[in-house]
Amino acid sequence: MLTLQKQKQFAELAVVIGVNMQKGQEVIIDSDVACQDFARLIAEQAYAHGAKLVTMLWSDEKISRLSYDYASTETLCDVPQYIIQRNKYFIEHNCCLIKIAAGNPNIFKGVAQDKLGKVSAARSTALKEFHDATMSNLLRWCIVSVPTASWAKTVFPTLSEQKAIDKLWDAIGKTMRLDSDNPTAAWQQHLTTLSARAQRLNELNFDKLHLYASNGTDITVGLARNHTWLAAQEEGADGVSFTANMPTEEVFTAPHCKDINGTVHNALPLVYNGTVIDGFYLTFKDGKVVDFEAKEGYETLKKLLDTDEGSRSLGEIALLGKNSPIAQSGILFYNTLFDENASCHLALGASYPTTFKDGNSLTQQQRNELGGNYSIKHVDFMVGTKDLNIDGIDANGNKTPVFRQGEWVL
Ligand code: ZN
Ligand code: ZN
Repeated sequence: MLTLQKQKQFAELAVVIGVNMQKGQEVIIDSDVACQDFARLIAEQAYAHGAKLVTMLWSDEKISRLSYDYASTETLCDVPQYIIQRNKYFIEHNCCLIKIAAGNPNIFKGVAQDKLGKVSAARSTALKEFHDATMSNLLRWCIVSVPTASWAKTVFPTLSEQKAIDKLWDAIGKTMRLDSDNPTAAWQQHLTTLSARAQRLNELNFDKLHLYASNGTDITVGLARNHTWLAAQEEGADGVSFTANMPTEEVFTAPHCKDINGTVHNALPLVYNGTVIDGFYLTFKDGKVVDFEAKEGYETLKKLLDTDEGSRSLGEIALLGKNSPIAQSGILFYNTLFDENASCHLALGASYPTTFKDGNSLTQQQRNELGGNYSIKHVDFMVGTKDLNIDGIDANGNKTPVFRQGEWVL
């Protein structure tokens, strides 16, 4: 269990390192009612650091589940104008958005895949403008997670509810570097290390990366022209830096969506729309998935791939070593925020405009011409096994080892 003092430091990290709130800004906290105590701590820290106003966006996943059980697909697909307008307000008023993501990974188990897929696609389409704005850093945002009973029991099914919650708090505390005397300073140091790694990759300017491992992964991922490697710290449209994912260990960029060839196997389960997809592989040809299989969650994976043209290609390749605190914990969190930071990953769907040089000043069309991918989806899946090797290949075909046995060698 984290002490209240440590929880306050955690809340402060979300405000100061996460969205890097500036005095006088409005803060939006998007939270499930199960995380109300922590949401209040964040609100308190935001005000203590000079927020103009903190507004809550409460949700309740149990009620969401009831909506899926009782409301029609048509009703759920209809996103009311006031929600679209509300999101517009967040962008226009340069609000900071802090999301507490702590969903029960199995909350939608048993809901028809067709219904989940349709509703998810309809909502993504209706909220496209907002999705694009967050992908382009038009507003500064950050995601953090705290334990809920249902999530903790999924991660530690054999423990009592209270023990599971305590253990998950401890694990999250370590990944958030709260065991340090000065977590804010520890984070600043960590962010500096990650930025240096991104800079080194940018200097090497690889054309492609070749990933191979004993599970059958053997794939060459071309990188988009004018791609740029980014680390945790990004820049908002207003020039203020922020850290979207906390924790974060990755260095990432945009693949070339027409130059991906070979097969990749997942290294950890993917939890998507409340459904677990596992034991799967994807085979790419010229950037598109042409074959796939899944031992678990096949229909869900199929729905995801069939969302739109871009959901069959990749929008992100992210590298991180097996010695990161999350990987070391050996815990499968059933939560992408953590699991994506346990392992190298790829994302099906859209690339981040910011992973191109001057990306936000380019049009979607221009980024596409450079090899950028567009989709209403962006779904990370983990490919970094403990024996993953990666070679960087430059424009002349020269190879440089980047990863050996799951760890950086660069
Ligand atoms: Zn990533
Ligand atoms: Zn991603």
